[in-house]
Amino acid sequence: MSEKKDYYEILSVHRDANSVEIKKAYRKIALENHPDRNPGNTEAEAKFKEASEAYDVLSNEEKRATYDRYGHEGLNGMGGGGFGGFDFGDVGDIFEQFFGGGNSRRSRTQPGHDLKFRLELTFQEAAWGCKKTISVNKHEVCHSCNGLGVKDPNKDLKICSYCGGKGQINQGGGFFVIRQTCPACHGKGKQVINPCKECRGEGLTTIKKDVEITIPAGIDDSNRLKVSGEGEPSMDGGENGDLYIFVSVKPHPHYEREDYDLYGTYEISYLDAIIGTKLSLDGIKKDEKIELNIPAGTQTDTILKFRNKGIQNLYNKNRGTLHIKIVVKVPKKISKKERELLLELKKIQEDNKNSKENSFFNKFKKIFN
Ligand SMILES: [Zn+2]
Ligand SMILES: [Zn+2]
Repeated sequence: MSEKKDYYEILSVHRDANSVEIKKAYRKIALENHPDRNPGNTEAEAKFKEASEAYDVLSNEEKRATYDRYGHEGLNGMGGGGFGGFDFGDVGDIFEQFFGGGNSRRSRTQPGHDLKFRLELTFQEAAWGCKKTISVNKHEVCHSCNGLGVKDPNKDLKICSYCGGKGQINQGGGFFVIRQTCPACHGKGKQVINPCKECRGEGLTTIKKDVEITIPAGIDDSNRLKVSGEGEPSMDGGENGDLYIFVSVKPHPHYEREDYDLYGTYEISYLDAIIGTKLSLDGIKKDEKIELNIPAGTQTDTILKFRNKGIQNLYNKNRGTLHIKIVVKVPKKISKKERELLLELKKIQEDNKNSKENSFFNKFKKIFN
């Protein structure tokens, strides 16, 4: 038989530690090494087991006194190993005190699952907001059996044969026993013998529900809307889950969106670029006109900015900026007449250039002569 570790050492407490100190020390070790938090970790399991055994003795005045006087040997006579009665349930209580915020695990209800829905919007619907009715496939607590899965619980249910109606089963052996929810009845303690016809015993029916949603102006691609309480129902009387709408917005034919700003390009002729012009193009709002003032001598890639002509901000209703990049277009084909005129224009330009150069050289000469 291997040497057994000292119980005080296991819990890292002094030999004269009081019951509060012992409990505190045990809790710390139990929480750190609890199998729920360390699945498959045999070292943690061993530590947990060891600490539980130490606590079982040191928290009991009589056992502790015996242990203090006679050591491990002295305990052997105390009730067949002494620890057979130890059970995870005791630790469970400590867990609930620690993590459950004072709630008992049994009274806590589980909310229903959340649902996701993909919704495609046109550019205009997203920009200005709209109302949409969507059809959501979801579950509903069965009206016929109120979610019980059986019409008459007295007749249609029997005590679970697997767990004997306790809803839990004990696993493992010796003093190390894990209490688990019964896999046969999922903790209910009962088994269905005559399931509800409406829901086939599931307690839920599938429905299609129309949900009206309000799309706020300015919503963007990949934004998410939450509709509270329109998710799946809770199976134990808790709150419904929520419905999340994932929005995808179709692009605008001319403008690209970035946050609340819009970006577009506009082609003008080389003649308009040289002599300047006034143009009008459609904004994103109905009947909205954007007046483009192209001054004479506009270069290609010039960007014109129009404040308050972009997308409306989701939160403050201000509109972003519309950016228009002016691209000067050079024609690939011109008529004979145009060519003649351009050649004439070219000649004028060359004459201008020559006379400028001449005057430059004349000045040059003057300086050096
Ligand atoms: Zn039913
Ligand atoms: Zn059962």
